[in-house]
Amino acid sequence: METGYIAVLSALLVVMAGCGIVTAKKKSEYSVPILRLIVSGIVAVVSYIFFLLSDSLTEAMVFDGLYFVCTDWMLLCMLGYVCRYADVRLHTPLFRILFTGYAITDTVSLLLNVRTGHMFRLEPAVHAGMGLTYWSAEFMPLHYWHLGFCYVLAAAAFAILVWKLARTSRIYRKMYYYTIVPFITVLAVNAVCYSLDYPLDLSLFFYAVLAICICYGSLYAAPKGLLEGMLSHVVADFSNGIVCYDFKERCIYANARACEMFGVEEGDKYSRLEQYYRDWKQQNHGGNEDYAQWEEEHEADGSLRSLRMEYQRLKDDKNAVMGVFFKLTDMTDEVRRFREEQYLATHDRLTGLYNREYFFQKAEQILRRKPDVERFMICTNIKNFKLVNDLFGEETGDRVLVDQAAMLKFSNYEDCIQGRIGADRFAMLIAKEHFNADLAEKSTGRLQYLINDSNYKIHIVLGVYKIEDPGEAPQVMYDKASMAIESVQGDYQKNVVFYDTGMLNRLLHEKAVVGEFDSAISGGQFQMYLQPLVGADGKARGGEALARWIHPAQGLILPVNFISVAEKTGLIIKLDEYMWEQAAGRLKKWKDLGRQDLSISVNISAKDFYYTDLYRKFTGLVEKYGISPANLKLEITETVLMADLEMHMAVLTSLQEYGFQIEIDDFGSGYSSLNMLKDIKADILKIDMLFLKKTENEARSRVILNSIISMARQLGMSVIAEGVETGEQRDFLVEMGCEIFQGYYFSRPISVEKFENMYMVVQA
Ligand code: C2E
Ligand code: CA
Ligand code: CA
Repeated sequence: METGYIAVLSALLVVMAGCGIVTAKKKSEYSVPILRLIVSGIVAVVSYIFFLLSDSLTEAMVFDGLYFVCTDWMLLCMLGYVCRYADVRLHTPLFRILFTGYAITDTVSLLLNVRTGHMFRLEPAVHAGMGLTYWSAEFMPLHYWHLGFCYVLAAAAFAILVWKLARTSRIYRKMYYYTIVPFITVLAVNAVCYSLDYPLDLSLFFYAVLAICICYGSLYAAPKGLLEGMLSHVVADFSNGIVCYDFKERCIYANARACEMFGVEEGDKYSRLEQYYRDWKQQNHGGNEDYAQWEEEHEADGSLRSLRMEYQRLKDDKNAVMGVFFKLTDMTDEVRRFREEQYLATHDRLTGLYNREYFFQKAEQILRRKPDVERFMICTNIKNFKLVNDLFGEETGDRVLVDQAAMLKFSNYEDCIQGRIGADRFAMLIAKEHFNADLAEKSTGRLQYLINDSNYKIHIVLGVYKIEDPGEAPQVMYDKASMAIESVQGDYQKNVVFYDTGMLNRLLHEKAVVGEFDSAISGGQFQMYLQPLVGADGKARGGEALARWIHPAQGLILPVNFISVAEKTGLIIKLDEYMWEQAAGRLKKWKDLGRQDLSISVNISAKDFYYTDLYRKFTGLVEKYGISPANLKLEITETVLMADLEMHMAVLTSLQEYGFQIEIDDFGSGYSSLNMLKDIKADILKIDMLFLKKTENEARSRVILNSIISMARQLGMSVIAEGVETGEQRDFLVEMGCEIFQGYYFSRPISVEKFENMYMVVQA
């Protein structure tokens, strides 16, 4: 029995020594107090073993005394360790002197006991139950002082531990359990052995347990537990979501943010998150990479969250996989802000359609993606939109734009996109099969009545370009569609115009004309040609001034090639002024030659009314050249007149009052020819013979012509027949009472010199 006991104690001594070595190596702040404790423990156990093995009484008295001494120092070391561990400052000089002083006194007293026997005495005894011979101790009163001291030390250490345990945060408590539990065990077993006067002190067994617990607890488990506890608290409060899986793909941790972001409940979070990981792995070729980053969306609390996901495989220092973790960052706000910014950067604020840049960008993508689909690029334009704004206010103007955008958006087919390109310009890319020209006509028609309580009609034109080459820049396609719109300037009947290649050529030509026009006028490249106005007798009454551009490279250019461009761009004003000046100058020359019977008719175009003070201009001219206003006749087409009848009439009447004669040009080609006659008091009607050609029923046309002529005469106007090409025409016109003619039958427009040679020299 005794041998077994000693053998176990020896084995435990080895364990304690091992703990001592580990502690020494660890070099923690607790290493020194722990080492002191272990060494005193080892000495105590060794002393006790020698005590048990003692044969003589003296030997037994020495070792037992030594053992008691060791208990003093062991408990003192324990208190020292506890104070250090619990961070309690008992190291005041008073305590030090008090405790160390008493320990020394007690040590001396116990060592002297061999001689004096004042503390305990030993005598051999036999334990009947165990059949064991042992040294039975008889304790003197002084021994109880020693015992009391030991209990004070133990109680102090215990009190500190309990006090700390009660006050400390939960994650620190575990640290104290490691010390408190084996310590109580040692004390309790010791107390039991004492009180039962048991021959062997069994509490020594627990010294080793205490040593292991203190070593492991304070040097390893507690710091690790503390770290884990702290980290999990930190991670739990992260703004990021963290989900960790072990190497068997079990979810071992997910902080609250992760559950919130994934939209999983606390209760079933592990199974849901494990499912997520399995799905993710399946979609990512087994998730074999060490790191991955991507973005995805999750529905949580009824709203969609944009998450930035990071995946990382954790490996230990031997490169073995420990597990994986996902880090989730909530990007919802950023993504929303980014989308808002992107929306603002790519969309028109008023209508919500794509803006110019984005529309072209999108169009290019679509065309590139599916180049085989037949498509149209459409451009829309609201005619005179500025006028809508001016007349009805910008708010109404905005409404028109918004409604038009909504109308365009209505055709919401796949790959059909719409954009606002300019103020009132919209564009649409649409598959040919989805575009319906009739529908477009109707829709634009509907929009025309957007402005309430008004007779003003909005006119919207759609320019349509059938895309030939999908690789062409969408911008160019749009330009072609808008070119189609330009081609119907002034034609208010058309809503949809298709682009044709001639339009481009015309545009290029126009550009060339505009570029050279100014210098051509100042360089004298324009010449006044005259087309004679002759009587039935063939004698000239005068001529119509018609412009001819004598281009240095191209030779003679006819008005058909430059008048409409000049009218569109306003360059016509300069040309007309030039022509009027030429005409007035020529009349002055003729007057000087005594030919005041000859007149010259000049053309006035629409823009002249708006940008020139016609009254001042013409009166200025006749005054400058000293000619009679009756010789300078003013031609205005009926279409120009009708555009703003009141304003034009006011100017024309004042000119008439001054003595000028007004001719209505191209009479019969407009829509309200007869109607206008009641309002306009012109002097001369020029009836265009082309008007006759248009009709198939010549007999009926002649009746009409006849009545126009007689009506004009009744209204006090004289009539000029224009475009007379044949003798037959001349004859029936004469029959109808027409007196003056103009046309190829008599002469084409000719240079002034030629005119003078042909019509003036002969007569002179
Ligand atoms: P317009 O004022 O009606 O001038 C008459 C046009 O008819 C002239 O064409 C003339 O050559 C053409 N013409 C005359 N007799 C006949 C005929 O028997 N058969 C045919 N098929 N045509 C005939 P032109 O000179 O080419 O001028 C065309 C238009 O250009 C003019 O039409 C006029 O509107 C405009 N224009 C010409 N010069 C000027 C100008 O200096 N200022 C303005 N504002 N317009 C001008
Ligand atoms: Ca004319
Ligand atoms: Ca004419």
